[in-house]
Amino acid sequence: MSTNIIQIGNQERVFVLTGAGISAESGLPTFRDSDGLWSGHRVEDVATPEAWEANPELVWQFYSMRRRDAERCEPNPAHHALAALESQIGERFFLCTQNVDDLHERAGSHNLVHMHGELFSSRCEANCGEPVFSDRNLYESAAQIPACICGAQVRPHIVWFGECPLEMDRIMREIDRCSVMIVVGTSGNVHPAASFVHWARQRNLPATPRVRTYYVGPEPPLNAGAFTEVILGKAGEVLPNLFSVEP
Ligand code: NAD
Repeated sequence: MSTNIIQIGNQERVFVLTGAGISAESGLPTFRDSDGLWSGHRVEDVATPEAWEANPELVWQFYSMRRRDAERCEPNPAHHALAALESQIGERFFLCTQNVDDLHERAGSHNLVHMHGELFSSRCEANCGEPVFSDRNLYESAAQIPACICGAQVRPHIVWFGECPLEMDRIMREIDRCSVMIVVGTSGNVHPAASFVHWARQRNLPATPRVRTYYVGPEPPLNAGAFTEVILGKAGEVLPNLFSVEP
């Protein structure tokens, strides 16, 4: 357990990036922990546009199972610590999560984006213009897969491997103006998220202070060398005692 403290000045802006590791203590397995298989499936078979084209029934069975698993979980002290930090510094806090679960929202975070989509939302596969909608249903057979009003199938609102992450303009704006970046529970393998720490360090805006970058997790990530400091420990144990906010 760490004794490090991150000081946050009263003008500072904090950018947080979270990955699967922050939800591990809530009972959701990370991708890395599952030996390259995701709940018994190869990623290529359930989390790519090609998988959807080949077998939408299997893809929906997989995401229905993930919906069921996530529904049973509760936010842990790490999610709560980030929500508490946001309630202290307000709009100077920005959270970007790679996670598709809704544990950050359930802990009380507001200013956040899900760059890889959301497990409890669905949308038209043809992007016909119908909005993304909130959806907690389970679709276990081909006959249950709903159709959009345009006639195309409804798909999970998930960014699959090979698709573009969401809200990148907003994320880049926030990286450009933060002075503290805190990355939690992500292995540094999946891009572009793994590059955020490099982008923060490389930016060169005359009016921006040097950014301090921290990683929190039980093992150093692949991009550990890019951080000002790597704080080793479980997110749920480290984050609740990590911040000191200047009034
Ligand atoms: P990853 O599985 O590649 O890496 C998980 C990281 O979490 C590892 O570095 C590990 O050391 C760390 N970790 C494990 N336990 C931790 C803890 N208690 N506290 C802090 N860190 C801990 O995950 P990734 O880098 O996020 O990338 C995989 C992709 O799969 C991402 O898109 C990710 O969001 C997605 N995914 C999402 C969920 C979810 O929504 N909960 C779950 C699995 C995978």
